[in-house]
Amino acid sequence: MRILVLGSGGREHALVWKLLQSRSVSHVWCAPGNGGICAEAECVEADLRDIWALADLAARLEADLTVVGPEAPLVLGIADEFARRGLALLGPSKEAAKLEGSKVFAKEFMARHKIPTSRTYGVFDRANAAREALKTIASPVVLKADGLCAGKGVLVASEHREAGAFIARAMEQREFGESGSLLLMEEALRGTELSYIVLTDGEHITPLAPTQDHKRAFEGDQGPNTGGMGAYSADGMLSPSLEDQILSTIVRPAIAGLATEGRAYNGFLYCGVMLTSAGPKVLEFNCRLGDPETQPLMMRVGSDLAQALQAAAEGHLDEVQILWKPGASTCVVMASGGYPGTFDVGKRIDGLEQAAEFTGAKVFHAGTRRKDDTYYTCSGRVLGVTAVGPSLGSATDLAYQAAQHIKFEGAHYRKDIARHSRQTLAAGGDQSG
Ligand code: AMP
Repeated sequence: MRILVLGSGGREHALVWKLLQSRSVSHVWCAPGNGGICAEAECVEADLRDIWALADLAARLEADLTVVGPEAPLVLGIADEFARRGLALLGPSKEAAKLEGSKVFAKEFMARHKIPTSRTYGVFDRANAAREALKTIASPVVLKADGLCAGKGVLVASEHREAGAFIARAMEQREFGESGSLLLMEEALRGTELSYIVLTDGEHITPLAPTQDHKRAFEGDQGPNTGGMGAYSADGMLSPSLEDQILSTIVRPAIAGLATEGRAYNGFLYCGVMLTSAGPKVLEFNCRLGDPETQPLMMRVGSDLAQALQAAAEGHLDEVQILWKPGASTCVVMASGGYPGTFDVGKRIDGLEQAAEFTGAKVFHAGTRRKDDTYYTCSGRVLGVTAVGPSLGSATDLAYQAAQHIKFEGAHYRKDIARHSRQTLAAGGDQSG
């Protein structure tokens, strides 16, 4: 198979790395890719918002399958354009990708299909109406801009002043552009968060190993939200009964609901779940793999990934299994100084060769570019230092040992990724029932 991967982050590096190990794969391209990906696969320039040019590219390369990393091309309808041209692609249709593209749509979809989620307080298209409603709701409250906001459109407000400021930023200062023209207000849930991702062909479902990510910038879950500062996966994270509950109350109703509504779905469905004392509830759906969750996941895949992705795209996922290496894996994200606020780019990265010498560790590139044989930073999240091990502790130790050797001006990373994690997750303390 000849596979084209779309995207430029650590998620895409991990996908490319794993696909290159698949026996069924003869060639992998990545568009546009990044510095690290270009050292391992052929990178092609591309604009991920131009879905027509991406279809031209897949046709010109004669790719047998295109795998979409990020959400933007899916929400724009890349799957529909590929289908129209008879090109194979893994990813949901535009009508199905609304699950991620519109938080209000996702909430209404969950209500239609009785999928457990937090209570909706209201949907607002005017700032004053949102402020009025806020007066009647006790804190904490969660505010969500309806459209795609690159992870910045959600606020869990512990007090009304904070919520009021968010309403002004989204609806009056238009910080998120069109994405903030509708605002969703919902109940704040308490409990333990989990990323539960499945691969589907629209009918059959293959769950991936569960993962947890760390969204806050600093240790102890302090500081602003980021795209993700690390993630891990370990055997036994979920008890079989809790996993069954997630599948029967969330995943299967969602896949069946998409099918009955005629929304063609194949690819990854990411369920952001809060394990509350009243059972698992959905925080969000994404229509693609998570980043950084993909990095620890790919390191644990023990079978031919390309075959599974092709089977999902072609509608016979029931014929293929994904095998998982026993043990655990951990990804530590190294970020540019100042991230997630303003940060400098163009810093030289040293120590990558030393880090590469640790058996069981792999440095995935997120925001790097390569010039001659030297790598430079070019984004907020720069590298995902990832390692596998027989236990969560050993995988995490190995990731940190490798990370210690990597240096660039301003580099920062959390020292507590997967450190305080319980091996088995349990229901959290949601008092709301
Ligand atoms: P989302 O993009 O909807 O997942 O929101 C980003 C993050 O905000 C989630 O990973 C949670 O940490 C938090 N969050 C979202 N919705 C809620 C909620 N209803 N209750 C508590 N936390 C939430």
